[in-house]
Amino acid sequence: MGQDLEKFKQRLSLLDYLQQLNWVARPVGHGHEFVGLCPLHQETRPSFYVNARKNLFYCHGCGQGGDLLRFVQLFRHLSFRQSLACLEQQSAPPTDPADVLEQATAFYQQQLDRYPEALHYLKQRGLHDPALIKELRIGYAAGGSLRRHLAAQGYSCDLLQRLGLLNSQSCDTFYRRVIFPCCQNGRVINLYGRSIAAAFAHRFLPGSKGGLYAWEPVQQCPEVILVEGLFDYVVLRQAGFRHVTCSLGTHLNACQFQQLCDHPRTIYLTFDGDANGSGQQASQQLAHRLRAQGIVTRRVLLPDGHDPNSFFVQGGDAAQFQALLEAAQP
Ligand SMILES: [Zn+2]
Repeated sequence: MGQDLEKFKQRLSLLDYLQQLNWVARPVGHGHEFVGLCPLHQETRPSFYVNARKNLFYCHGCGQGGDLLRFVQLFRHLSFRQSLACLEQQSAPPTDPADVLEQATAFYQQQLDRYPEALHYLKQRGLHDPALIKELRIGYAAGGSLRRHLAAQGYSCDLLQRLGLLNSQSCDTFYRRVIFPCCQNGRVINLYGRSIAAAFAHRFLPGSKGGLYAWEPVQQCPEVILVEGLFDYVVLRQAGFRHVTCSLGTHLNACQFQQLCDHPRTIYLTFDGDANGSGQQASQQLAHRLRAQGIVTRRVLLPDGHDPNSFFVQGGDAAQFQALLEAAQP
């Protein structure tokens, strides 16, 4: 038993387990160690360390530490035996949700070029740079073909339904949608489907939308532009602004807010420009909350009725947007 247990523990990665819980971490030192907020106690400064090579954790805040089994015991309030059973059950199916979402992303990506209406839609929304489309792994769900593709790879209908990729009638959920994968720590954790027909709402799969979109490349930047929509994000990136991130809506979840506050920086809040609209209201409230955490904020005022996307689509250029950044008010 003892030997089997050791093997079992070696086979399961603590870091993978934490990432499935959407634990946000940054590497420290030479790449085997990661630090993030402790999932076992409330804190605002990360003190939870994971050594991926040793498969161990230690929290300097609450003093807890150990291996994956110990973590499951503490996190799920289970006995040693219950934790073991829980992990055995979890490790039984060969598929982890992130792998399935990865497969779905790759499939949708391949489909994009085959549907002129999808490319036309992207162009209409101001996105035409093939390199950026590839970098962001944007794809297209025509509808009706994902199920067959994933079933052929051995994924069960039940699993695909649980992830929300299939609906209760076992049909593809995403239908005529441009797909943006949302990634965290290099893994796909959700998919955003943007309907190319105006009649249908935009939607995520069930489950967390995770942290800020494309946060990892900008988290060290002293100045960050925050936008609310993915098409705002893409036009800014395409215009050459690299220090951009997106909150996927005007309401930030706790993880996204924490990311913005994790070290001193200036945030350029670039929500929709409508003076009486929800965008500006949300922007004001967020600025207030961020300032309370010691973060410098600037509100970028776009011409009335504009969001960053429409600003660029209707002929605005990088120099003009730069001028708006420079004129941004505290
Ligand atoms: Zn702790």
